[in-house]
Amino acid sequence: MRDFSYLRANSFEEASSAAAMPATMLLAGGTTLIDLAKCGVTNPERLVDITHLDGFDAVRVDAEGASIGALAKMSRVAADPSILENFPAVSEALWQAASAQIRNMATIGGNLLQRTRCAYFRDPASFPACNKRVLGSGCSAMEGVNRGHAVLGTSEACIATYPGDLAAALVAFDAIVHLGGRKVAIDDFFLLPGATPHQEHAMQPGEMITAITIPASVAARHSTYLKVRDRQSYEFAAASAAVGIELEMDRETIRDIRIGLGGVATKPWRARAVEDALRGKVLEPDIVKSASRFAVEGAIAQGGNRYKIELAPRVVERAILKSGALA
Ligand code: FAD
Ligand code: SF4
Repeated sequence: MRDFSYLRANSFEEASSAAAMPATMLLAGGTTLIDLAKCGVTNPERLVDITHLDGFDAVRVDAEGASIGALAKMSRVAADPSILENFPAVSEALWQAASAQIRNMATIGGNLLQRTRCAYFRDPASFPACNKRVLGSGCSAMEGVNRGHAVLGTSEACIATYPGDLAAALVAFDAIVHLGGRKVAIDDFFLLPGATPHQEHAMQPGEMITAITIPASVAARHSTYLKVRDRQSYEFAAASAAVGIELEMDRETIRDIRIGLGGVATKPWRARAVEDALRGKVLEPDIVKSASRFAVEGAIAQGGNRYKIELAPRVVERAILKSGALA
């Protein structure tokens, strides 16, 4: 039994100043935080409940794009008609994440900040070696069971996969993370593990995600999210792809294409090499197939996760063809 104090924040200022105190964590839906506290990965001394803050759960879409409050629930964003119409990949990524109960409870801000599902990370009692938990302690997954681990963006210190679905769609469409006073492009928000796998994002103590914005684009309107996993629901991605396409007037040449990958990398991954290979090309199955191989450029497998190097390009290829049919 571990004691912690609980503060219900009534304003953004109150939440921020409390969050700047040591050993303090923000509590949103609690579906990740409580889990990690129970298994001993996080031991907060103070929880700051932000779920009662007013004005941080709005979902708005206009000609500029979408603005999604950090406290909006996953299920509400997934079902929002304007998100469905203008950013279908975002809606589909949310619908395919977790379970109905979790989606009703969990928030968009908390979803971005979910932690890896690496079994060694989540079991400190049995596996002391984990650089993400204790820097310098080693990595149990390198020589262990690593079927779900990343093949892209890995380092000698950590090969843990970033598990979220939503962020793969957000990275494809250049979303911006709003942290109260400042904004960070989503690609810069998530950090590669390098030698410091315990640092996963660009937030500073006392900062809170207040909203996500996604610029409007034709590609985002013609987008889809394809998730391949061991079972059809309530499972994390083995590989996933969010793809959006804009075609030229001839209806066959690709003017713009955006691709975000999930399940295969240490952070939400933008497949820019595939995008570059296809922009200006005809949307034709053979061309798409060979360009999709670039999705795993630079990939490194550890053993159990080698199948992802074959799987990811196939997922990308299928998602491109599906998105192309919508364009
Ligand atoms: P919390 O648990 O409240 O918080 C998570 C973290 O974010 C904490 O560190 C907290 O301090 C911090 N935080 C929360 N809000 C903010 C904020 N506004 N600003 C700064 N910090 C903040 N996700 C998927 O994408 N795909 C899946 O298939 C999937 N399957 C799942 C299956 C299970 C069994 C479970 C338990 C979870 C699964 N998830 C999946 C993860 C789930 O989506 C997350 O648990 C959820 O989105 C977290 O949101 P929350 O509001 O509950 O966050
Ligand atoms: Fe820890 Fe990363 Fe190794 Fe998993 S892969 S045991 S999270 S260091």
